[in-house]
Amino acid sequence: MEFNFYMPVRIVAGENCVRKNAALFAPFGRSALIVTGKSSARNGSLADVQAALASNGQAYAVYDQIPPNPTVGSVEEGARIAREAGASFVVAVGGGSPMDAAKAIAMLARQGSEGSIFTRAIGADVLPMVHVPTTAGTGSEVTPYAILNNDEKQTKTSISAPSLFPKIAFLDARYTQSLPRSETVNTAVDAISHAVEGMLSVRAGTLSDAVARESLHWLLGEYDALRGGELSPRSRQNLLYGATLAGIVIANTGTTPVHGMGYCLTYFHGVPHGRANGLLLPAFLRVCLRKDEARTAPVFAALGMGPAEFSDRIAALLGARETYDDATLHDYARRAAANKNVRNCAVLMEEGDLYGVFRSSVGA
Ligand code: NAP
Ligand code: ZN
Repeated sequence: MEFNFYMPVRIVAGENCVRKNAALFAPFGRSALIVTGKSSARNGSLADVQAALASNGQAYAVYDQIPPNPTVGSVEEGARIAREAGASFVVAVGGGSPMDAAKAIAMLARQGSEGSIFTRAIGADVLPMVHVPTTAGTGSEVTPYAILNNDEKQTKTSISAPSLFPKIAFLDARYTQSLPRSETVNTAVDAISHAVEGMLSVRAGTLSDAVARESLHWLLGEYDALRGGELSPRSRQNLLYGATLAGIVIANTGTTPVHGMGYCLTYFHGVPHGRANGLLLPAFLRVCLRKDEARTAPVFAALGMGPAEFSDRIAALLGARETYDDATLHDYARRAAANKNVRNCAVLMEEGDLYGVFRSSVGA
């Protein structure tokens, strides 16, 4: 048995856990920058964080201008505000977009904005972060990744460093109750994709596989609720728990070409991140099974179903698929083949394989 597993994030879960554990914010200093989007003001998460900070006598500024699929401009602006406010730590409140943006802001606030954020070495000097997810999908609250729009390369690019792990993740599923069905499905499918891709990573090991199987147990256990769109507080808790587990998986394994391919659909067409992965994942798994049955069979065992049933079930969640013409898909396969995720996959995927996945998933 051989593995190398790292998880430095304190994870605190439960109803009202932010206010109940307000004292955990205290060691991070006098002043916070809260990084968020627009929905946190409506689902109670922002108010809970503000109350927790106020109860410790900690000051805060709020930067709520993070768009879905965060841009370099938005994180540079956030870093400027963090420096002006004298922030000693960052609190991220929202989905993957504000949570990822907060990591880049925490880094730039300490290290300055000179040079490309995508190629520079990320040092250890990063403001400490506390993450409060309001979607159940990305797992960003437990990963060292921040994914930003990279306009020079026309894709989304991940930056990563051990210093980008948050110190604390607070999981309160009440905040996800206000998510519309489509966002709930998209983010849950993202988490399923993380668990599956983690099992197919060259860095997968006994422990990350165990966490991935556990994650799939919780996520797929809510399949009927996701399909029907009736999500009880218990279902919301299970999805958030499953998504965080899947985040723990990819924190250790990284992702595979599914994510690299999905970035094309998101960057060029605005397909939501989780939906993009879900559109591609079933066909990707079929190619994996054909090329390396021994490596792929355990994934289907963890899913508890075969390739055809998995395709049907994901398709039923996602509804009518987007389609793109052949020249576009050849271009995307070429782009995705250049992504570092390809080398992270235990099943070798050539550009032609990626084109085949695109074609059978979103071909016209
Ligand atoms: P998101 O882009 O953060 O949010 C999607 C939409 O949902 C936004 O309009 C957001 O509005 C809204 N929203 C968030 N929480 C809500 C709530 N509780 N109720 C109602 N609306 C809510 O979506 P996401 O799928 O969570 O994150 C996707 C991003 O994460 C992508 O950029 C992706 O690349 C990245 N990602 C990161 C990792 C990682 O390891 N770091 C892993 C996978 C994906 P507001 O933002 O205005 O509030
Ligand atoms: Zn993802």
